[in-house]
Amino acid sequence: MQTLGNFIDNQRVASQSTRKAPVYNPATGEQSLEVSLASPEETRAAIASAESALTGWRTVTPLNRARILFKFKELIEKNADEIATMISKEHGKVFSDAKGELTRGLEVVEFACGIPHLLKGEHSLNVGRGVDSFSLMQPVGVCVGITPFNFPAMVPMWMFPVAIACGNTFVLKPSEKDPSVPLMLAELLKEAGLPDGVFNLINGDKEAVDVLLSDERVQAVSFVGSTPIAEYIYSTASNNGKRVQALGGAKNHMLVMPDADPEQVVGSLMGAAYGSAGERCMAISVAVCVGDEVADNLITRLSEEIDGMKVGSGLAHREVSHQEEAHMGPLISQQHAAKVREYIDSGVEQGATLLVDGRTRVSADNQQGYFVGPTLFDQVKPGMRIYEEEIFGPVLCIVRVDSYEEAVQLINKHEYGNGTAIFTRDGDCARQFCENIQVGMVGVNVPIPVPMAFHSFGGWKRSLFGPLHMHGPDGVRFYTKMKTVTARWPTGPRAGAEFSMPTMK
Ligand code: NAD
Repeated sequence: MQTLGNFIDNQRVASQSTRKAPVYNPATGEQSLEVSLASPEETRAAIASAESALTGWRTVTPLNRARILFKFKELIEKNADEIATMISKEHGKVFSDAKGELTRGLEVVEFACGIPHLLKGEHSLNVGRGVDSFSLMQPVGVCVGITPFNFPAMVPMWMFPVAIACGNTFVLKPSEKDPSVPLMLAELLKEAGLPDGVFNLINGDKEAVDVLLSDERVQAVSFVGSTPIAEYIYSTASNNGKRVQALGGAKNHMLVMPDADPEQVVGSLMGAAYGSAGERCMAISVAVCVGDEVADNLITRLSEEIDGMKVGSGLAHREVSHQEEAHMGPLISQQHAAKVREYIDSGVEQGATLLVDGRTRVSADNQQGYFVGPTLFDQVKPGMRIYEEEIFGPVLCIVRVDSYEEAVQLINKHEYGNGTAIFTRDGDCARQFCENIQVGMVGVNVPIPVPMAFHSFGGWKRSLFGPLHMHGPDGVRFYTKMKTVTARWPTGPRAGAEFSMPTMK
């Protein structure tokens, strides 16, 4: 069986670690390979490689850094089908969804290609007579990315293109559950001409992470994953003096107003709740309906749509001709599928009405994989575990409220604040919602309002620890240190220029 190791100094390096983790194809339940879990020494070797590449890389001009990223973009496009197949094999999401993930990641590469423009900084002429002030946006140093299983290509690409474009070097610690794609990205960066040591990759678990969080050569840590780990990463790395952005879990609500377009609501909810088997941090897991009529109509339409859903391997249509692509694939692991089923049990025990039971909707030929079918609950109330906790599976909860105000209060009270959406035709109501909702990313008749790469991505409350979001302007701020220079020259035509601060008088 193939064993994956690390990528250090632009080389795949076999790991000497005796600790390994299995990697499965979640659609079949078969183990496809194993991954070594890096030792502290191996992790330190990756940091050392990034540290030694720093001096050379930060002096490469932004234009030339961008040229390497342009080449990287071309290579990803050339290999897109292979990468998407790899994502689908290890994560389980359907092929078109995997391609979509890659596109969203590529958009960050495209954004980072504009780095000469993004690093221009600020300039003030004549802050005093003959005295100018300007800013330098300099790299922070060795940066670390720790990423989750659910977007093995996109989430690493939220981080490293911007980090390296800004002149930093990078160590990525991807999820040990689907490690093949990040390694392939490392190979493509090398092929694009990235110098040795600028990008390194360590496959590992907590043992490797703890080294990354404490090593004094690491200056910045970007994390995406579950909230308990995000909180741990944020406090540990901050205590060790590093700048940190740690994105956590979510429970995203869609508010459906009585005047919403019903077709649009149902079409949007089907994709937002069940796409990628609900394993998206921006998935909608709660539909908040204003009034019983809205809820009853929605349930009728949703139930019909769910009946027509095809659940199965995300690649079957590419392997067998004349098959249509499945709408939804399996969950990442047997343990996770069991956990999602337990949540469904708990919803029933705590008094919610189970309208569609995904535990029983798995076809005979999918029994070996980690499938849970689409699930729909009505009469869900705050306090129930299925409402309060992140399930990260294909389970949609309907909560009934009497008014817009009650809906807003409910959403604002939830501990997570990653994404939300309102569906309405009333511009004034939508405007109020955008202004008052305590959530980081808001959609108006858009179910999954993931910002484009040139804006920044991040939630509020316990969905993000740290002040800066990912990519876009915040990404550039996170990966640069601002230095402000105030300068005058003693000779030349402006000799005798004056600049006095109030404190100098
Ligand atoms: P996870 O928290 O289990 O793992 C994330 C990363 O942390 C992995 O690389 C993992 O190896 C590492 N890790 C796990 N346990 C650790 C520990 N005890 N100490 C140090 N490192 C540890 O998350 P996951 O299951 O891979 O991903 C799903 C979660 O990610 C969900 O909660 C989802 O909402 C969240 N997520 C959030 C966003 C966002 O933008 N907010 C995006 C994608 C995923």
